[in-house]
Amino acid sequence: MTEFLELEAQDGIRMPWNVIPGTKQEAVSCVIPVSTIYTPLKPIPEIPVLPYAPLRCRMCCSILNPFAIVDYVAKIWGCPFCFQRNQFPQHYSSISENNLPAELFPQYTTIEYLSSAETGPAVPPVFIFVVDTCMIEEEIGYLKSALAQAVELLPDNSLVGFITFGTYVQVHELGFGLLPKSYMFKGTKEVTKEQVLEQMCFFAGKKMPTTGVIAGTRDGLSSESIARFLLPASECEFVLNSVKNQ
Ligand SMILES: [Zn+2]
Repeated sequence: MTEFLELEAQDGIRMPWNVIPGTKQEAVSCVIPVSTIYTPLKPIPEIPVLPYAPLRCRMCCSILNPFAIVDYVAKIWGCPFCFQRNQFPQHYSSISENNLPAELFPQYTTIEYLSSAETGPAVPPVFIFVVDTCMIEEEIGYLKSALAQAVELLPDNSLVGFITFGTYVQVHELGFGLLPKSYMFKGTKEVTKEQVLEQMCFFAGKKMPTTGVIAGTRDGLSSESIARFLLPASECEFVLNSVKNQ
């Protein structure tokens, strides 16, 4: 039990199981599904801060971490997410089993990197509220006040997005000012990531990258298209109210 609590204190994650089912049959017989509750921005005292830019996988952009499989002779690391093999850059050439960079220390599963000229300016925190609207009228009132309170507690520079779901999933375009607008997806129909990106006009008239994670302006998204869905917390109270009244 201590081990679980230690993990939660170190990484801000809580899981119902401590092992992943090895077969489909085992997965099916799990009464509680395999899942994780993650607390982003969890205050961790004495979190290690590395004064350089993170190394990213060239396929999926995830960051080098203690779960990567490293070939110290060939100077290659295997990404544990997409299995892409990545060459270490020149400044990692002295890496060996006895000379690990901090991000590979087994106990450094959660670390921070200092932003620098190399990593670009620090991105403000983004909070997306995903709200289930299948509830009785009375509860909607409580929901609205809880949401208003939550938004008020966010740092002023943070960005806020809003998704509601009932029969339809609605992605709200908060940056569209006084005329509330949203993109609707039917809950019973499967849509791919590419279809979502296309329907929400993220790459209007431009070529969409065919591989990797699309997470920001460096992946071809324009800052205007991101701003349509993310509004500074200080400006969104009024807009969120009008959305919730729909
Ligand atoms: Zn990868």
